[in-house]
Amino acid sequence: MKAPQFAYRAPRSIKEAVTALAESEGMGKILAGGQSLVPTMNFRLARPDMLIDINRISELDFARPENGKLRIGALTRHAAFERPFFEGPLARLLADVVQHIAHVPIRTRGTFTGSLAHADPASEWCLVACTLDAEMVAHSLEGERIIPAAEYFVTTLTTALTENELLVEARLPLLDDSWKHGFCEFNRRAGDFALSMSLVALKIENGRIAEARIGIGGVEDKPVRAPDAEAYLIGKTGEAADRVEAARLASEGIQPMDDMHAPADYRRDLTRAMVRRALERALAR
Ligand SMILES: Cc1cc2nc3c(=O)[nH]c(=O)nc-3n(C[C@H](O)[C@H](O)[C@H](O)COP(=O)(O)OP(=O)(O)OC[C@H]3O[C@@H](n4cnc5c(N)ncnc54)[C@H](O)[C@@H]3O)c2cc1C
Repeated sequence: MKAPQFAYRAPRSIKEAVTALAESEGMGKILAGGQSLVPTMNFRLARPDMLIDINRISELDFARPENGKLRIGALTRHAAFERPFFEGPLARLLADVVQHIAHVPIRTRGTFTGSLAHADPASEWCLVACTLDAEMVAHSLEGERIIPAAEYFVTTLTTALTENELLVEARLPLLDDSWKHGFCEFNRRAGDFALSMSLVALKIENGRIAEARIGIGGVEDKPVRAPDAEAYLIGKTGEAADRVEAARLASEGIQPMDDMHAPADYRRDLTRAMVRRALERALAR
């Protein structure tokens, strides 16, 4: 099928884009990489009256470390993270995770913030944002709003962004060299969305875990953290028994989806394995 008719706007500035959004009275959609929006329109699951194409807004085309954060502008494609362009553990983490997103052509068009705006529960970038407590920077005619990850993800394909807001930037905390990460996901076919995945970031001091971040994606209607497992790991060395217990706590703390792709019990079991393996990978670095 082809998409229904729509008007097309190609603003050159953030101001023009948010003005177009406001004028569309809730019927306009931002077009970034188009890798989720266009298929959805072709299936007629989305019927925006107007597409506001942000690809000519050069002020959105940046990705750089600044003041302890990695600032990722709205035109940064997934592929930008394949080869680290800055130093440190966060660059390695992003380079590791990006390989699991779709396929090369999609990674060259799709954007980091487009994934965050689309908010698929199995999006790898949404999992990264949740695990690392990202900040989302939204602009509208009313001004700028910074939304912490804990308040940003609402449910499947729904975020705290209002219909008049453009997500201009996401900010991730830069990690110092005491941080190690591990990522593990399971999907039935290469490049497909995960049935379960886990991202782990551990701060190691004097051979013990000083801070633990464990994120889980593809399992609930949005990415979630595993607070009991995170608290359990503090002060531990992360030996095999610690990893097994943390993975058990994480898998018991979730409310997995039960859908045509996998039953809830299977997803819970899978999550236990994903968290354990992500921990193993983090501690092996
Ligand atoms: C075959 C296939 C496999 C895929 N596999 C994966 C996968 O394994 N993992 C994964 O994470 N993704 C996967 N994707 C999705 C892909 O990563 C998309 O690129 C991503 O979801 C959306 O980014 P985009 O820039 O293409 O956004 P678009 O498609 O342009 O937009 C998506 C939605 O977000 C809104 N939006 C986009 N940017 C902004 C903004 N700056 N401010 C406000 N709203 C905005 C749009 O209005 C739209 O509603 C897959 C896609 C395909 C087609």
